[in-house]
Amino acid sequence: MDNVYDVVIIGAGPGGLSAALYASRAKLKTLMLEKGKAGGQIVITDEVANYPGSVREATGETLIARMEEQVEEFGAERKKDIIKEVELEGDIKVLKGEKGEYKAKTVIIATGASPRYIGCPGEKELTGKGVSYCATCDADFFEDLEVFVIGGGDAAVEEALYLTKFARKVTIVHRRDELRAAKSIQEKAFKNPKMDFMWDSVITEIKGDGIVESAVFKNRKTGETHEYFADEEDGTFGIFVFIGNVPINNLFKGKIEMNEKGYILTNDKMETNIEGVFAAGDIRDKPLRQVVTAAGDGAIAAVCAEKYIQNKF
Ligand code: NAP
Repeated sequence: MDNVYDVVIIGAGPGGLSAALYASRAKLKTLMLEKGKAGGQIVITDEVANYPGSVREATGETLIARMEEQVEEFGAERKKDIIKEVELEGDIKVLKGEKGEYKAKTVIIATGASPRYIGCPGEKELTGKGVSYCATCDADFFEDLEVFVIGGGDAAVEEALYLTKFARKVTIVHRRDELRAAKSIQEKAFKNPKMDFMWDSVITEIKGDGIVESAVFKNRKTGETHEYFADEEDGTFGIFVFIGNVPINNLFKGKIEMNEKGYILTNDKMETNIEGVFAAGDIRDKPLRQVVTAAGDGAIAAVCAEKYIQNKF
């Protein structure tokens, strides 16, 4: 079984990196497959203030770089490949990529999730420069500034309420004239003096030279558009987007049990419904998607994969 890995990890975000660290440190023959640049969603965050022990100077990118260094130190193999097909049922799992085929006794799925994007001009360019998808990560950068929150679901309203602790004013921009969020959350939002609402509206363009400076909003009922400019003294404002998330699950549809939103179901050992297949990080069905929880999942998945191998082979 020379060409068979003990563990193949699909994905190189914090969940995948943590799994690779624990698996390689346990001397398992470990391969981490990555699609592009390592890091997942956290690399789009300019500063990471809420990962325990991370200092203010740490950006998503530097934190991930340190994790990568640690993974390499313990000898995990890394390959860039895009997996196109998976065979997970047998004792030896087979992953077919664009560049090669990989065999493994266990697979840890750490493909993550991606925020649903608005898709308007300027959004991509100004991500991490005023446009954010994570209030827990970025709220304090908008201390005393104005903030717009796009979306009307539980996440948008809850995160908007959280942002009122930092921002001067938080305006929810929702495409309809009533929120989707739970009534109890709505009530809190309507009572909060820092909250404002822009109904029936969408954001159609975000502008700025290296930082958000203005945004164009369109009223869907009247068709009217208006451009909002940052207060001159502030120079910028925040745009937080919470219009849902999308799990990166295409490879596993119909093969692994998922919840109705497409997130993979696991038990507390990170085991999926298929023997020898684990999931870690944002791809899992769980209540909090953060670097710290992904790292925890990865550690548990790797340790439980090791125990599974000891018992099985
Ligand atoms: P969600 O419930 O799917 O809501 C997405 C919101 O974004 C909706 O208001 C939707 O508008 C809007 N939206 C979707 N696509 C849009 C687009 N292209 N442009 C503008 N607006 C768009 O997503 P979520 O709030 O992220 O929540 C995801 C899941 O987690 C939900 O099941 C939610 O209940 C759960 N969650 C629960 C809690 C809690 O219980 N405390 C907290 C957070 C999340 P429409 O309303 O018009 O469709």
